[in-house]
Amino acid sequence: MTFDVAVIGAGAAGLAAARTLSGARKRVCLIEARQRAGGRISTLHVPDLPIPIELGAEFLHGEAASTFAIVDAAALPVYELRTDYWYSRNGSFTHIRDFWGLINRVRARIGPLKQDVSFAEFMRTQRALSPRTRQLACNFVEGYHAAHADRISALALRMADGEQEGEPKQYRLASGYDSIIEWMRAGLDPEHVDLRFGSVVKRVQWSKGNVEIDCGTFTVRARAAIITIPIGVWKAPAEQDGAIVFDPPLREKEKALARLEAGHVVRITFRFRERFWEKHRAVFIQTRDRFMPTFWTTAPMRAPILIGWAGGHCADALLAERPSIIDRALDSMSRAFGVPRRRLDALLAGTWMHDWQSDPYSRGAYSYAAVGGSGAHDLLAKPVKNTLFFAGEATSSNETGTVSGAIATGYRAAGKLLRGVLT
Ligand SMILES: Cc1cc2nc3c(=O)[nH]c(=O)nc-3n(C[C@H](O)[C@H](O)[C@H](O)COP(=O)(O)OP(=O)(O)OC[C@H]3O[C@@H](n4cnc5c(N)ncnc54)[C@H](O)[C@@H]3O)c2cc1C
Repeated sequence: MTFDVAVIGAGAAGLAAARTLSGARKRVCLIEARQRAGGRISTLHVPDLPIPIELGAEFLHGEAASTFAIVDAAALPVYELRTDYWYSRNGSFTHIRDFWGLINRVRARIGPLKQDVSFAEFMRTQRALSPRTRQLACNFVEGYHAAHADRISALALRMADGEQEGEPKQYRLASGYDSIIEWMRAGLDPEHVDLRFGSVVKRVQWSKGNVEIDCGTFTVRARAAIITIPIGVWKAPAEQDGAIVFDPPLREKEKALARLEAGHVVRITFRFRERFWEKHRAVFIQTRDRFMPTFWTTAPMRAPILIGWAGGHCADALLAERPSIIDRALDSMSRAFGVPRRRLDALLAGTWMHDWQSDPYSRGAYSYAAVGGSGAHDLLAKPVKNTLFFAGEATSSNETGTVSGAIATGYRAAGKLLRGVLT
């Protein structure tokens, strides 16, 4: 049987695309390497813990249209965060007033830059900024963007024309991020969508109007394909698990990939028997730690849970401590909160993390543009000969690295197919 469309990857982007195509009664084969849907959205529902544990995406950034449309359609409960930022030095906390104002002032300074440099290089020229502002801005770029400050494009970080200076609102899904995935999956018409888990695509052979997808034990034939794999998988050498060989090769995509990077993140959820951090009233805590410089609580929800986060170089340093990652992270937490390590050990009731870097089907956290990489997300997104279409967070230029960006690109790719190819 020849499908209308083969969709590679059942993460947020792949599901959004497959749902749209199935709604238009097109025959879709949705091919997923893992035994589950959701990709970098991965929520655990632990039996003795009534709140969801996120291993991947956690926040809804701003009022992103594509996710909030699902939130409303599925009547999902969300709550807004108290984005309150603090800086800690060995347990001594200082409130950071107007954290986003500070970040935006740094970003506004990139505006006049003529030639692209890395963010780290740009910051070296900003001697008028205080050491603490520089530290916080670097923490932000390495943490929020999961980027290496000496690789990420400064120009890609500058404020877009007309961008609001205010603080973006942040939300959490009370039922877990997987509710979004479940809603999209429930909308796949089984008469039209063949969802194949545990199927790793190895090769995509294509010519105009014709695609043959080799999954090792079976081949899928379709008129067109939507590829939603993460940037780390795109960049993996052909012999590695998850890597996909395109035949004939996609030279334009190779140019885009050379200018995009897969960011690195370690995110750990810690469960304690007591909320020892409560007296500080801090929600987001930044430090200068070289392993785990960022922590946050579940506020405004009261729960004995702390999240630790390391991005960019800190993530690499922490991952190099394997198999003692949790140990090193607890040392960082002890310094950040000024609580002796022995006390933390006595209070600790559980930890959860997933190594997205060594996961063959993600090979990193989310994408960022390297120096000279402005426009690379758009280049990766461009369809090839009305036959290969591209989606996923790395193909979004305005919502890179987010779930809402991934969903929007899935709708975009499916819409292009419906309007231009499968009419
Ligand atoms: C730790 C962490 C925290 C994050 N926090 C947030 C957050 O708070 N808010 C936010 O908006 N975003 C966050 N993100 C980013 C967000 O998770 C992603 O941007 C989004 O989920 C990407 O969706 P996608 O469909 O583009 O890719 P994916 O979800 O990665 O989907 C791609 C799919 O392709 C499959 N695949 C890969 N290779 C193959 C192959 N060869 N054959 C078949 N299938 C294959 C994968 O298994 C995967 O299911 C976070 C990510 C991480 C890792």
